[in-house]
Amino acid sequence: MLPLVALVGRPNVGKSTLFNAMTRSRDALVHDQPGVTRDRHYGICRLNEDTSFALVDTGGIAGEEEGLAGATARQARAAAAEADLVLFIVDGREGASALDDEILRWLRKTDRPTLLVINKMDGMDETTVLADFARYGFSDMLAISAAHRQGIDDLVDEVLQRLPEQGAAEELDTDPNRVRIAFVGRPNVGKSTLVNRLLGEERMIASEVPGTTRDSIAVDLERGGRQYRLVDTAGLRRKARVEEAVEKFSIIKTLQAIEQCQVAVLLIDATEGVTDQDASVLGAILDAGRALVVAVNKWDGLTTYQRDQTEALLSRKLSFVEWAEAVRISAKHGSGLLELFKAIHRAHASATKEFGTSEVNKALEVAYETNPPPSIRGHVSKLRYVHPGGSNPPTFIVHGTRLKVLPESYKRYLENFFRKRFKLVGTPVQFIFREGS
Ligand code: GDP
Ligand code: GDP
Repeated sequence: MLPLVALVGRPNVGKSTLFNAMTRSRDALVHDQPGVTRDRHYGICRLNEDTSFALVDTGGIAGEEEGLAGATARQARAAAAEADLVLFIVDGREGASALDDEILRWLRKTDRPTLLVINKMDGMDETTVLADFARYGFSDMLAISAAHRQGIDDLVDEVLQRLPEQGAAEELDTDPNRVRIAFVGRPNVGKSTLVNRLLGEERMIASEVPGTTRDSIAVDLERGGRQYRLVDTAGLRRKARVEEAVEKFSIIKTLQAIEQCQVAVLLIDATEGVTDQDASVLGAILDAGRALVVAVNKWDGLTTYQRDQTEALLSRKLSFVEWAEAVRISAKHGSGLLELFKAIHRAHASATKEFGTSEVNKALEVAYETNPPPSIRGHVSKLRYVHPGGSNPPTFIVHGTRLKVLPESYKRYLENFFRKRFKLVGTPVQFIFREGS
């Protein structure tokens, strides 16, 4: 289960600077791609395959935002009251203020484990500043400079020590033949309709997996002779009649489900097109490197004209994830589900495919010979060899020299070449470039 850490503090203390520093994915698969919206309130701090936590920036505690931004901010603050750990951020330059005192009172009421983090310590005298904040009575205070990335690693270490032990999703699921699926999407796209139909159809061959935590529910499902585990979905929760309060944290739940799954099925409402919220969930799936199938739901509700319009819109909006299959379904009528599951399988097979060293080197050789890297100001990258670096997502580690001048376009060429050659669909593909032999 993905633990939750909340950043709390008055405006301008550097929360969003710290949020960015902590969520900057170390080997990001996807850099700011058009079409992907970053939710500025939620992110994942990912340290390695088995260690990550969700981070929520609660914004200004005053809560002056309006509209959708206001709703997300309120949700973030509600999430803080449930967080496994709160980072109370203060400004070392300005010292303790009345507003800090007020926030501290609120924090004491929520009674969450809290760590005091003093930011903007670049060029400041630590002893003096720590003395100023001593009256808050924290046994541990951390001095950092978010803007200069000083103290961030120590902070992350401190955070990890205070979080509950995490078991990798794979360890919790011992059956390698079982495909872990998360149905994700914004409210009202039809997740629970779909899940309930799947469970109903199979006359409850489904069984609830004993939950590890209060609100994580997984259900095992057999369908067409195959095994699936549906990880934490909104639909399941509603079915289990967990009180409405849980729904407030749906963004965190979505992030957690994405972390736990192998294939994320992103539901989109055909009658509404691709919204910012859809794009933000999509961004989280890509950041996590998960296999992806897009399920365009409520297809039954469209006229032929609307269907054509929607097709055009989807292919434009999703052009940057060309590798993902989009399946039209109607959760209500149960149509398109066979196709959906076929796509899930193709994505899963691609994501978990094992590669041999010789076949990937052959691929690199052919790609290189067909189209060698261009000369950039008299410098040419040399690609020497490649070895498989793991699956889910398929990862290839390319060794060579002068890789600094290897253009992005050439990296995309390699990716597409490997995709075609190994018939990889529905999964991100990661290339890591290493200088030297
Ligand atoms: P938030 O309102 O709490 O999210 O604060 P921001 O992250 O927007 O930061 C507010 C201001 O403080 C910005 O101008 C930042 O550049 C600045 N700031 C953030 N972190 C540091 C730091 O470590 N040192 C200094 N000197 N300034 C910082
Ligand atoms: P969730 O919030 O994502 O779990 O969405 P729900 O499953 O609760 O569905 C939201 C609304 O959309 C409900 O009124 C459903 O009846 C409706 N709905 C779900 N799937 C379909 C579909 O395939 N076609 C149509 N026309 N309506 C649907």
